[in-house]
Amino acid sequence: MHVVYAFWSGVVSWLANRAIVPGLAALHLTAYVDRPREIAQYFLLTAVQVAIIAFVFRPMESLWPVEHWADRRFTVIDRSYTLIKLFGVLPLFTYLVLSPLSQWLGGSSSDDAAGLISVQGMLPWLGHHPVLLFLVYYAIYDLVYYLIHRLQHGIPWWWALHSLHHSQRQLSCWSNDRDHYLDDLLEALIVAAVALLIGVSPTDFALLVLSGELLQNLGHTNVRLRFGPVLEKVLVDPHYHRLHHMRVDPDRPQLHACNYAFIFPLWDIVFGTALFGEPAHPTGVGDPMVDADNRRGIVAQQLATLRRFWGAFRRRAGWRYGEVAFNVNYEPISVKDFDLHELESSHIPMAASAPSPARVTEPVADTDDQGISV
Ligand SMILES: [Zn+2]
Ligand SMILES: [Zn+2]
Repeated sequence: MHVVYAFWSGVVSWLANRAIVPGLAALHLTAYVDRPREIAQYFLLTAVQVAIIAFVFRPMESLWPVEHWADRRFTVIDRSYTLIKLFGVLPLFTYLVLSPLSQWLGGSSSDDAAGLISVQGMLPWLGHHPVLLFLVYYAIYDLVYYLIHRLQHGIPWWWALHSLHHSQRQLSCWSNDRDHYLDDLLEALIVAAVALLIGVSPTDFALLVLSGELLQNLGHTNVRLRFGPVLEKVLVDPHYHRLHHMRVDPDRPQLHACNYAFIFPLWDIVFGTALFGEPAHPTGVGDPMVDADNRRGIVAQQLATLRRFWGAFRRRAGWRYGEVAFNVNYEPISVKDFDLHELESSHIPMAASAPSPARVTEPVADTDDQGISV
């Protein structure tokens, strides 16, 4: 173990001195970012994460797929999302915004973290059981994500953002990071604020995020993998999260409102949203205004999603809790006010005046055109 640690530490130092320090100097960022070793460690861990996705999860999709695809064209954009986020957006946000902010707010950059409602402060004995303490943090972290996720589906303006993640019909090992950047920002601010509040140390926080990310990458993988009747209720497996991504079934319109938890199904069980024992369904969304994301590139997706968001955010209906679809004016319409069967079968967005599908734009390409079979 000592040899591994020494090797890792050597690689971190090498990367910090040879790439991070000169890189920060070239970008004139030395004055703002003063922890090159930490940044080097981040990039190495991220490289490990991407290697696991590419060389473990991705081959599993070829060997034991749940869905058989004629080609993988829709997965390419999700791979770009993952690489941009992990190697660009996330480190920039973490080291240029979040770290200075947490230090400014009085958070610590050392491992002696202390929060306003510190878990260690309330339960001091947990300090002597680091594994247990880590599990408690893990459970809190997952609960916060669960609650955010419920709101992402329940508040129409937040669904406008989160629906980009759900618009993917070819759910793969790369899909976890297919998100709108505003959605990511909101999520990151809430989770980081909670971490500060309960006093998670930076090292623990990095471990939480990294292992959580890997489980979520696996959760999106198109693989016939189930953890079994007992373990599937302890940890989220790929089948569990795939059910969360199912397309709306107009005959069972509530079925897809399930499996919001990312790591522990416990939260779904506690709040009554767990779904077990259901076979896999096709993934994606029925709302043609959202499904149109599949014909867009990253920039166009980000802009279209922003228009959906603004269409909902500025209207009263965008704040009314409940499930919605969007009409051609990006206005959220409650699913109670239109015929789901009609919207699902027509592939045509709702007109502005009446909450029923109307031929106002070109029909969206039929969803069966990719040779997908579950
Ligand atoms: Zn979701
Ligand atoms: Zn997902």
